[in-house]
Amino acid sequence: LNRRLAEFGTTIFAEMSALATATGAINLGQGFPDTDGPEEIREAAVRALRDGRGNQYPPGPGVPELRHAITAHQRRRCGLAYDPDTEVLVTAGATEAIAATLLALVEPGDEVVALEPYYDSYAASIAMAGGRRVPVTLRPAEDRFRLDLDELRAAVTDRTRLLLINTPHNPTGTVLTREELTAIAGLAVERDLLVVTDEVYEHLVFDDAEHLPLASFPGMRDRTVTIGSAGKTFSFTGWKVGWVTAAPALVSAVRSAKQYLTYVSAGPFQYAVAEALALPDSYFDGFRSDMVARRDILATGLAEAGFGVFRPAGTYFITTDIRPLGEKDGFAFCRALPERAGVVAVPNAVFYDDREAGAPFVRFAFCKKPEILQEATDRLRRMA
Ligand code: PMP
Ligand code: GLN
Repeated sequence: LNRRLAEFGTTIFAEMSALATATGAINLGQGFPDTDGPEEIREAAVRALRDGRGNQYPPGPGVPELRHAITAHQRRRCGLAYDPDTEVLVTAGATEAIAATLLALVEPGDEVVALEPYYDSYAASIAMAGGRRVPVTLRPAEDRFRLDLDELRAAVTDRTRLLLINTPHNPTGTVLTREELTAIAGLAVERDLLVVTDEVYEHLVFDDAEHLPLASFPGMRDRTVTIGSAGKTFSFTGWKVGWVTAAPALVSAVRSAKQYLTYVSAGPFQYAVAEALALPDSYFDGFRSDMVARRDILATGLAEAGFGVFRPAGTYFITTDIRPLGEKDGFAFCRALPERAGVVAVPNAVFYDDREAGAPFVRFAFCKKPEILQEATDRLRRMA
């Protein structure tokens, strides 16, 4: 492994899922649903395969049906208008979108300011691009992880190339507020920075929280690369269909990198995701209320088992504090948890440069059947 990647071995998700398989524990580690997405959308994929749509290399930017569906979905949700021909790129999941965007936009030595804890592929992609990550830590305050706007401001230097934002935020479940996003946008405009915003959980916001796309803030449309994915919203994480929307010059840059990573993304699924994005509001509302119910089962159960619980406003993850259990090392705790309780979780420390700051936090996923969540929390309550 070269020096750029030396610090990144196996991802924590693979490690913890392997542990779940080996021990037969309930896997609340890696974030993937245990129920596949809508039947009609699976049928749409089968139809595309059968009708010979997408069985050969699709167009580089993505099939037109999907590009149109992505822009229509964005317009319908937040009134943002993008040109499906020049301002959209379909990618192999959000993961490729992140990698291609950073490879396209970051020069060796450039600084990338990212919220910490950060989704693990951000760090690896910044490294592959030869950039330097500059974390700004979200800190727990009362019931939520907050962005310190002064810290964010202080993190920007003359070497800063871009801000890498994620809302709703994995793993903390924080949904950035209008005030926080206004400040981020103001800083980007003032310092003339590009912003990459990972909004794969855009449909997973609960209670009074509202997902506000960063690209919709004043001065942001043309400096923002927005990343989305069908994996989370439609419960098809295995299809690996994601996308980028941005101004033409930015999309074209990202496309240059994507061409040499995967060239194009798998064809038939693109047609099916185009149909998924056009589902009526009732689908999105139903998905969200299902997930709220699951969050509540897990949050209640974890609190009863003695964890400190940060009730998430978005995503399908709950970050907990293990100190009330008399524990302080999330790594050791997660490695022992399958044996102790028959449950797998993820130590948040892997998402921090400052491992100390992340040590007491552990993440549980709730995109699982209610009875599974119930069983997992029963086991945690009985934990020795
Ligand atoms: N960004 C975030 C914040 C994620 O949690 C994930 C995991 N789904 C991804 C990106 C990757 O998405 P995809 O599976 O579409 O590559
Ligand atoms: N995004 C998922 C999570 O945070 C995992 C995806 C992956 O394994 N790369 O759990």
